[in-house]
Amino acid sequence: MKIREIRAAGLRGSTPAGGWSEEIQADDVVHTLIAVHTDEGLVGVGSAFTCDALVKASLDVLWPLLETETALEPERVSEKLHRATFWLGRGGAVTHTIGGIDLALWDILGQATGQPVGRLLGGRWRDRVLPYASLLMDYPGPMAEALHRVAAQGFRSFKIGWGPFGREDSATDEAIIADARAAVGPTAELMVDAGGSDSLWRHGLKWAHRTAAMLAAYDVRWFEEPLCPDALDDFVALRAASPVPISGGEVMTRRQSFLPWLQRHAFDIVQPDVTKVGGLSEQRRIGWAAEDHDVQLIPHGWNTAIGLGADLQLASALRQTDRVEYIAGSPYIDDIVAEPWTLDDEGMLAIPTTPGLAPALDPEAVRRYTGGEPLL
Ligand SMILES: [Mg+2]
Repeated sequence: MKIREIRAAGLRGSTPAGGWSEEIQADDVVHTLIAVHTDEGLVGVGSAFTCDALVKASLDVLWPLLETETALEPERVSEKLHRATFWLGRGGAVTHTIGGIDLALWDILGQATGQPVGRLLGGRWRDRVLPYASLLMDYPGPMAEALHRVAAQGFRSFKIGWGPFGREDSATDEAIIADARAAVGPTAELMVDAGGSDSLWRHGLKWAHRTAAMLAAYDVRWFEEPLCPDALDDFVALRAASPVPISGGEVMTRRQSFLPWLQRHAFDIVQPDVTKVGGLSEQRRIGWAAEDHDVQLIPHGWNTAIGLGADLQLASALRQTDRVEYIAGSPYIDDIVAEPWTLDDEGMLAIPTTPGLAPALDPEAVRRYTGGEPLL
């Protein structure tokens, strides 16, 4: 089975706010779907966390390496692409695009063999996983209302992040966390994401130490991106001292970049994004390296239904990956799938056993958010 054509289309029109200082708008494209078409009719779909213009330019560069390739060997083909582009956008848009292709090739391999991708990644440790609802931080009052809304949808675990947190003063920060804890109740999981990869992030290690102590008083499950994403030494110092677990890594790409962070125990929980790092071939190896360093991998999932599908398959195949991120209220998660995602009575999400990567897409909904560009 050969690769015949690769198409890409950006998702636009309902892009959720990211809480960024330079806020994205509904029509901005930050997620691009990539469809690999084969000569035998199977189509695999991946997702890349970057705009369509960069993905299409990257595909132009990569196509000569792909046009004679088999569609059934995701790991070898992805590694070939990485090695052939050391001198071209390594770690950036080209890596993101290779990741989207990688996801599409895993999807094809799953369909061709009749297996869920998690089994092809090594086997299924679990059949369901706890999704945590991920929401933008808001001020006391609206914050509680937003949490009540997602709790009513059946979520049992919650993360709030970005927005005003760390952008005003410590009294505001604590008031938000107190409001959120009261809203979800004393026993529900509550995580806090400072969003230290924000372009205008201004705090350092001392703020992070102080804030971690405050969060511990509200039994916060983990403290995410409390520092700017390149501050390796500070992450190491914070993690060693913090009363709450420290997480991060969502902006990093390529498995090799993660090794110093794992070897130095900079995180309790590492959070690579499968639509950035280079797909499941890369993510699976980061997961194994994390496990060997006693660091838990819980994937960053502020992306698409394809990314969530990949995270579920990964969670089935990694022993310690027992949670996935679920953006609350994103049409790129909820609306582009043919069947709605459903939580069980315990707030858990079943990991699909159907062949391939992600649940089937709704072609009409995909057309709506891609402006009718040819994709599937
Ligand atoms: Mg985050």
